[in-house]
Amino acid sequence: MIDSLLNAPYHQPRWFFLFVAITFTFTFVRYLLFSAVFHYAGFVWFRKFFQNRVLNHVPQTRAQIWREIWRSALASLIFAVFFGFIIVLWQAGYTKIYLRWSDYPMLYHPLSFLIAIVLHETYYYWLHRWMHLPKIYRLLHQWHHESIHTTSMSAFSFHPLEAGLQALFIPLLMLVLPLHLFVLFFLLLLMTLSGTINHCGIEVFPKNFERHWLGKWLIGATHHDLHHKRFQFNYGLYFTFWDRWMKTECPGFDKIFREKTGNTENGD
Ligand SMILES: [Zn+2]
Ligand SMILES: [Zn+2]
Repeated sequence: MIDSLLNAPYHQPRWFFLFVAITFTFTFVRYLLFSAVFHYAGFVWFRKFFQNRVLNHVPQTRAQIWREIWRSALASLIFAVFFGFIIVLWQAGYTKIYLRWSDYPMLYHPLSFLIAIVLHETYYYWLHRWMHLPKIYRLLHQWHHESIHTTSMSAFSFHPLEAGLQALFIPLLMLVLPLHLFVLFFLLLLMTLSGTINHCGIEVFPKNFERHWLGKWLIGATHHDLHHKRFQFNYGLYFTFWDRWMKTECPGFDKIFREKTGNTENGD
């Protein structure tokens, strides 16, 4: 069954469109599920017990939420088309995706995942800096920033051109880095999860995370929320290292994080 699915002639238009339609459905439903869980967990449960962790007290309008869902559907379609091209490239032998775990030493699989997310961070950080140049911003990135008070639905709310530039990373990665198919799936799950956490409007990381040896390198809701409020800071995706090295991390981030997590110590 899986073999016949993997070996279907996806270079033929009929199969290509079928693959894109199925991938679009998976991508969009995955986005909706993650966002819905965060949306309801945030509103009904987390918000009730952790009022101070709410980043935006401005009521979320139906118009904004529907706009974000519609734009995310469009972005999911763009992502699906890119995956259509990836499977055609894979069948033609151009990608380094592999299916047998035994093709590489066991340690390579987690290592390849770490390399992939560091490369993705680097690609995204510099793409994001470039998209904030005034002319490029108006063309590509303004759609995403129309959500000043983000919601868990904002995760994929991109202009189609921005969605295309973001998606381009995956085929480029597939051409250079050998990845097991499941490692690739895991990477896609992480992208959706991190996009949802960063936009959900509620700080979900624990107290003192901004000082934790690992936590201080990870981006969460407070960090990315500051990007939507004060455009010139916090361009990162998963990690803070580029923002720290390039001095683009928002001044006072640690203090704001401590306030949101109910930590009244000054931490200096
Ligand atoms: Zn931005
Ligand atoms: Zn954002």
